[in-house]
Amino acid sequence: MSAEPTQDALLSVRGLAVRHGQLQALHDFDLDVREGEKVAVIGANGAGKSTLLRTLAGVLKPVAGTISLAGTDVTGTPTHSRVEQGMVMVPEGRRLFPSLTLEENLLSGAYRRRPGRWDLAAVYELFDWMPDRRDQASTQLSGGQQQAVAIGRALMANPRLLLIDELSLGLAPVVVQRIYQALDEIVRSGCAVLLVEQDVSQAMAVADHVHCLLEGRTVLSGRPSELALPDVEAAYFGIDTTPKAG
Ligand code: ATP
Repeated sequence: MSAEPTQDALLSVRGLAVRHGQLQALHDFDLDVREGEKVAVIGANGAGKSTLLRTLAGVLKPVAGTISLAGTDVTGTPTHSRVEQGMVMVPEGRRLFPSLTLEENLLSGAYRRRPGRWDLAAVYELFDWMPDRRDQASTQLSGGQQQAVAIGRALMANPRLLLIDELSLGLAPVVVQRIYQALDEIVRSGCAVLLVEQDVSQAMAVADHVHCLLEGRTVLSGRPSELALPDVEAAYFGIDTTPKAG
């Protein structure tokens, strides 16, 4: 990849490096996400996936590299201005407000909204079980329902790019399927998605592009149709598959 951001990409990341004290969690990381794309970042525990998403969202500051959103360098900007420019994160563990109802949680996402098609009615249309539960405390919802509310809350800001951490963690396969169906709908509405997924087969099935991280470095990247599952699994676990000499 060139050292320059890709001009027509929605998100263009170049040479990103992030440290947690002594530990370098991301090294020279490059990534492009285009409009209408679903890109999955995969990798084992500790590979640096959450560090990447939190840096993109502006929670962590990189020690090197640039983050460009629709051609604008946002590397030094605070989280709220990235939300205003359309980059919104669904954090790991959903992080709903426990004392608020489902609807209040959704409305909390509209605080810095951009103009666009997503509002309460549109989120209720996407997740049609929600209106009946709008007054329930978020703590009374199942894990899958909470994940849907977390996504709905992010949509309320009318993102151009959704960053979703650990989308399927702890959810039953059927629930994961439903969430991915909703994501397809979201992408059709014109929003791109960058997601962290621990399940390699799932990532290969749903993403337009997959990036595999190992110890903070990209070890494999490409379209699922160009990648063989055994190679991706080997990259995921850091297994060297090159034939031994002799
Ligand atoms: P997981 O799937 O377990 O969440 P991950 O791929 O998201 O893993 P990160 O959470 O980004 O990985 O962690 C990358 C590395 O940085 C790990 O070695 C982790 O221990 C370390 N790390 C993450 N957050 C911090 C922190 N706040 N302080 C110190 N080290 C951290």
